[in-house]
Amino acid sequence: MARVLIIGAGGVGQVVTHKCAQVPEVFSNIVLASRTKSKCDAIAAQLARPIETAEIDADDVPQLSALIERVRPDLVINVALPYQDLNIMDACLATGVNYLDTANYEPRHLAKFEYSWQWAYHERFRERGLMALLGSGFDPGVTNVFTAWLRKHKLDRIRELDIIDCNAGEHGQAFATNFNPEINIREVTAKGRYWNDGQWRETDALSMHREFDFPDGIGPRKIYLMYHEELESLVKHLPEIETARFWMTFSDNYLKHLEVLQNVGMTRIDPVLYNGQEIVPLQFLKAVLPDPGSLGPLTKGRTCIGCVATGTRAGREETHYVYNICDHEACYREVGSQAISYTTGVPAMIGAMMMLTGKWQGAGVFNMEQLDPDPFMDALNQHGLPWHATTL
Ligand code: NDP
Repeated sequence: MARVLIIGAGGVGQVVTHKCAQVPEVFSNIVLASRTKSKCDAIAAQLARPIETAEIDADDVPQLSALIERVRPDLVINVALPYQDLNIMDACLATGVNYLDTANYEPRHLAKFEYSWQWAYHERFRERGLMALLGSGFDPGVTNVFTAWLRKHKLDRIRELDIIDCNAGEHGQAFATNFNPEINIREVTAKGRYWNDGQWRETDALSMHREFDFPDGIGPRKIYLMYHEELESLVKHLPEIETARFWMTFSDNYLKHLEVLQNVGMTRIDPVLYNGQEIVPLQFLKAVLPDPGSLGPLTKGRTCIGCVATGTRAGREETHYVYNICDHEACYREVGSQAISYTTGVPAMIGAMMMLTGKWQGAGVFNMEQLDPDPFMDALNQHGLPWHATTL
């Protein structure tokens, strides 16, 4: 029986709130707070059980601390934007409450993805006897747990790891992103980076690609190499990994639009002067693109996200693949969101459940692969993200 404070009432916040509400034996009290309270109230109105809602500006640490003091949660689930991570961690430290998020901190004016800022909180959380769980979404999140599970049950040593994210869904819009457009475009337009032979190698954005044959009738698709934050924690915590890469599918249509938007300067994150007022082009672009939340009823098809690991078991070379397939329309029927929000929100709820039921415990700042994958993998099967493992 626990009390949680969920911060952020966007696509992911909606799913986390629904999924926590489905498990009253763990999440006995739920408070949902966000910048726009009406969005929290709209989510609350979809639920079969009552929850509390509140307005919060998560850029303001004293305001956050006051809300946490008032609510007295056992855990804060941060599904606002990566810009707020450090503020919410500061407020958790100030009030003595555990913390969970789904994406690593990013400074607003620098599209830089690394854990250094949040790892720097380790000692402070450890000294206070608090736990912070980082990246409990799908990727990062489930992909870290898949890797830990492969290492625990399938391979004595992982030499090569490929994390492969396919969205084979269609929403019928000319151009739209499946989660927050600003965060998504910053990530996709960043330089590619992968781990090889003990060092990071950089590539131009989306310049490396290959084909991968996805299971269950999805078939062959072009996958593009990108940098993704779980690579950093995985090569730190599993130093045996010699090569680690992250790949994602994109439609030709998405890439065509993105290239034009980049060429004309609309993806810039530095302010420009317009009519005497400073605007950030990417933030303006976000305002005119479809709200990812509105894609829920339009999106059809499936996602397939998983990990391919090659290494040795009892001296023999083997390659294993573990993945989840998630259907956009089934997600919408269950929680009113498409699969991208669903595949992030369900692992956030499960990570919270692991912490609140004591299956995952610790003092300090943790990435998912540092904890026992087995109870999390069981919970994925029970709470809407069943997985499959196969040998390639
Ligand atoms: P949305 O933009 O849909 O939602 C973000 C929410 O946070 C909105 O409700 C927004 O409020 C609120 N918010 C923003 N700033 C503040 C603030 N200063 N104070 C309080 N609330 C604020 O994003 P998503 O739901 O798509 O994504 C949520 C998080 O999940 C992001 O960090 C994203 O990076 C992460 N993510 C992780 C994935 C994974 O697999 N690990 C995959 C996809 C997303 P308002 O409604 O007023 O704008």
